[in-house]
Amino acid sequence: MASNPFSNAMAQLEKAATTMGLPVSIHQILQQPKRVLTVSLPIRMDNGDVRVFTGYRSQYNDALGPFKGGIRFHPDVNIDEVKALSFWMTMKCATVGIPLGGGKGGIIVNPKELSEGELERLSRAYIRAIYKYVGPTQDVPAPDVYTTPTIMAWMLDEYERLVGEHAPGMITGKPLSLGGSQGRGFSTAQGGVYVLREAVKKLGIQPQGTSVAVQGFGNAGSFMAKILEKEGYRIVALSDSKGAIVVNDMASGSLSVTQVDGHKQQTGSVTGFNGTKEISNADLLKLPVDILIPAALENVITKENAAELQAKLIVELANGPVTPEADVILHDRGILFVPDILANAGGVTVSYFEQVQNASNYYWTEEEALQKLEKIMIDAFNAVWERKTRFNIDMRTAAFVTAVERVSEGMKARGLV
Ligand code: GLU
Repeated sequence: MASNPFSNAMAQLEKAATTMGLPVSIHQILQQPKRVLTVSLPIRMDNGDVRVFTGYRSQYNDALGPFKGGIRFHPDVNIDEVKALSFWMTMKCATVGIPLGGGKGGIIVNPKELSEGELERLSRAYIRAIYKYVGPTQDVPAPDVYTTPTIMAWMLDEYERLVGEHAPGMITGKPLSLGGSQGRGFSTAQGGVYVLREAVKKLGIQPQGTSVAVQGFGNAGSFMAKILEKEGYRIVALSDSKGAIVVNDMASGSLSVTQVDGHKQQTGSVTGFNGTKEISNADLLKLPVDILIPAALENVITKENAAELQAKLIVELANGPVTPEADVILHDRGILFVPDILANAGGVTVSYFEQVQNASNYYWTEEEALQKLEKIMIDAFNAVWERKTRFNIDMRTAAFVTAVERVSEGMKARGLV
């Protein structure tokens, strides 16, 4: 069952529960979502046919605030993945200490095969199916894999038509014109950079000359690569769903991330970029680099490859990229990993800022948003590091302990346990 993300999530919880002596009642509540919606979405395709899609929304835990988390459009979406992702959102919001719970949604679809019109009809149908259960004080969706600000705008518009009033705080990751926040577009990566800076300080690494491989060139990975390049790191390998590239001269070469981005815009992939060799996504993970950044999907670092990884530091921008068996191997090998629920929490943190701005109808500058983000990320890193040291555990278990302590506090205060 190692590849089932929900079993993995529960194994992570179990490890934290044992470390901290979590009361059974709290552990049991955290072992299942509060509610999972499964919806059928019949869509009129451009050719006149009707196709039926399946969508989910898992509302995991709302002890600390409204459910919060993105919506994924991907052919591999399934109920266990959505449940795991909603559990991780609960842990993520608590790790960074924002007053939100955890939720996640998904539709089984390859959005690259849909026209813009079909995608809009699907996005609106999803909101019609779940609108009674979402809203600024209930459950607040956002972008995730293959969903965008444009999709958030359609979803907001559909919701506002249904409820008959403006409610910009019902969804985040919106375009600026509809109440999006400055900085939200690259906030997952920016948050990752803030914690990476803390992690490299602990390891005594300097940015100059340090090599980095990034798996995934989407919302999180592409911005992470760009920001790290600006900070002086050497980006030596990048990838997308079609394949990976590694710079020919691994010893001193580096990629211009902006040029790779341009190449991807033109050709549809990072592969085939000048001065690089094409390798597989699996091989990218095993390159002799200093820092490895998985920024795509779950379960890429497993017991099969964890012993072969060569990085000193792993910063998990993806959700769930490392399995529990691999955690043990990495920890034993002395590889430091900054877990997803800390490393990629910058996205949901700026989503929280977006909601705050929507509620007050007053908007911040990018500088203000980033300043606040930096403080939250550094404080969270230090809180997790403190528990790592105190219990002599890996960073993931330390992050779970931090989060579960906070969610438990909320449950106790409510008299739930
Ligand atoms: N989908 C992102 C995540 O996994 C962002 C969620 C949000 O902003 O609510 O953290």
